[in-house]
Amino acid sequence: MLTEWLECGECGDLFQSADLLKAPSPWRKDEEILGCPCCGNPWGEPMHQICEYEDCENRATCGSPHETKRYVWRCFQHQPEKTGGK
Ligand SMILES: [Zn+2]
Ligand SMILES: [Zn+2]
Repeated sequence: MLTEWLECGECGDLFQSADLLKAPSPWRKDEEILGCPCCGNPWGEPMHQICEYEDCENRATCGSPHETKRYVWRCFQHQPEKTGGK
C-alpha cells in the first residue's frame, strides 16, 4: 500500500495516514473522524500533506495526476514534470 506522510499543524509530528487516530463520527455513521496520533488534534485544516518524493519532508503544495500511480502529492521542488514523471 502506498505510504502517505502527513504533518500535524499543532505539534508538527510527521506520521503516516495509516497511523491516524480514527473514531466513528457522532454525526454520520458511515464517516470517521481522524486525529493526530501524537497530540490528538483532530484532522482538519492545519494538517499538511507531505511530499511523496523519496525522502522529501517538505509540505506538498499540490496534488498532480501521475503516469504510473493515481494522484501524487508533491512539494514545489518535486512536481512530476520537474522530476521527469517520477
Ligand atoms: Zn499533533
Ligand atoms: Zn518534495
